[in-house]
Amino acid sequence: MKIQLIPEKCIACGLCQTYSDIFDYDDDGIVIFSEKSDLEGQFPDDPAILLAAKSCPTKAILAD
Ligand code: SF4
Repeated sequence: MKIQLIPEKCIACGLCQTYSDIFDYDDDGIVIFSEKSDLEGQFPDDPAILLAAKSCPTKAILAD
């Protein structure tokens, strides 16, 4: 699945990493990928990643 991060929308709540460790945070607590430096990536289908995207309060994580 393709996952896209929209850091401008992230409010640094820290929720997404509780679902999946593909998510990490920069020094300001804004979402980044833990093993990628860009804002978009392909990941194996994983319900935990989808749940993180659905649970993000500001829709800063897009999954399709
Ligand atoms: S759940 Fe959303 S708002 Fe919260 S840290 Fe993750 S990307 Fe940012």
